[in-house]
Amino acid sequence: MFGHTDSQVKHPRSAKEVFHMLAKPIGPVCNIDCAYCFYLDKTKLYPETKSFKMNEATLEQYVQQYIQGQPAGTPEVTFGWQGGEPTMMGIPFFENVLKYQKKHHRQGMAIKNALQTNGTLLNDNWGKFLHEHNFLLGISIDGPEAIHNIFRYDKKQRGTFKQVMQGIEICQKHEVEFNTLTVVQSHNGDYPILIYDFLKEIGSTFFQFIPIVEHSFQQESGKETDGMIFPNQENALQPGFAVHQRSVGSEQFGGFLNQIFDRWLEKNDIGEIFVRDFEMMLGLVMGFPSATCVNSETCGHAPAIEHNGDLYSCDHFVDSEYFLGNTSERSLAEMMDSPQQTKFGTDKRDSLPQFCLDCDFLKYCWGACPKDRIKFTPQKEKGLNYLCEGYQAFYSHTEPYFQKMAECLRMGYLAKDWKKLEKLKRAARKASPAQKQQVRVGRNVTCPCGSGKKYKKCCGYRGEGMAKP
Ligand code: SF4
Ligand code: SF4
Repeated sequence: MFGHTDSQVKHPRSAKEVFHMLAKPIGPVCNIDCAYCFYLDKTKLYPETKSFKMNEATLEQYVQQYIQGQPAGTPEVTFGWQGGEPTMMGIPFFENVLKYQKKHHRQGMAIKNALQTNGTLLNDNWGKFLHEHNFLLGISIDGPEAIHNIFRYDKKQRGTFKQVMQGIEICQKHEVEFNTLTVVQSHNGDYPILIYDFLKEIGSTFFQFIPIVEHSFQQESGKETDGMIFPNQENALQPGFAVHQRSVGSEQFGGFLNQIFDRWLEKNDIGEIFVRDFEMMLGLVMGFPSATCVNSETCGHAPAIEHNGDLYSCDHFVDSEYFLGNTSERSLAEMMDSPQQTKFGTDKRDSLPQFCLDCDFLKYCWGACPKDRIKFTPQKEKGLNYLCEGYQAFYSHTEPYFQKMAECLRMGYLAKDWKKLEKLKRAARKASPAQKQQVRVGRNVTCPCGSGKKYKKCCGYRGEGMAKP
């Protein structure tokens, strides 16, 4: 609809800042039909399109521009493949991905691939391929069977749990690295402990919890249709906004994260089980920049690219208003540096209501994702995040613990030693200067700087006479 793929970009150039991409090689097409998926109806953007498969010319153009468009000295680039369901493209498509990554690679730049999948189409061939080429998989699973099947079903409304579990078994059999992505909604939001224990049981060691807030702006408020709940005094939504009853409640989400956190402490899983929100929080408490856009002051460094090379400001803003151009007409770097995209990113900060600017947790939250800023503040200013109460509950409950963990890390101990902090302080005071320099942060844990790398390969790199990779 918006772009063409028949001409070549004339003036490739480098962006000013590193950027990340979420590519949709099969657009919004998916083999299953989850109730809360916000992406399935993006087919409406392309009413004339019969096939949403990314063709080879667009793929090569994308790969080349993504690699070549990064600023000089960028050490690593990760290709994020999403959908729809990207495995519907089949292995040959991803063989072409590797072919073009090899063809256009840049000296000194590592290239990685991460694939977000519902897991239902994985088989032995996929397992071998993904293992051989070191793909990192994100598998969507909402909890044990009875919970997962409520909203994650196929086109005939049959639950997908069994197929997802087969996909996870394939990953384990072929030693494919995977993490889990769990959508937190109104139903499973009440079962955090059950979900935490379940995810551990199936062998996941890295959990991502994504709150679902399905909302729409309704011209005619006051009616209840198709599960939408309309504004009232209690939830203080801005006029015209409605949320779906599948959405997680704000306080429910805070309670969910807090109970997961308490379980993590209770089971002494620090350094063994990684929860993205906790990694992010520890990194922020230690003064590192946020690894997630949602918790950053500004955003806009991770746009979405559709099957035909059309680029949009963000995965959550794929519509004509946020269309940046097509790779056949403008380079990715040029689109990333455009005033339109810069404004998209800085608006996250510049549109904050005073209530957020005065908030004790601003440095962790930054008003969270603009897509969910649909509430009034207590002072009746627009632009408060729907999940604000939940975020406040999470930050106030966990911050004191993360402060202690951060102190341990700064003293050269493990984060999981936080309970012994007073003892550690005494030991640190007695330690010799040489001992104090011996940092004993767990070398296999994710680096608290938020890079996503293991500590030993990042800030804790101990290569003889070499700079950190
Ligand atoms: S916790 Fe609430 S008030 Fe504080 S910055 Fe976040 S959204 Fe704003
Ligand atoms: S709009 Fe939300 S999801 Fe998109 S880049 Fe900004 S913070 Fe991230």
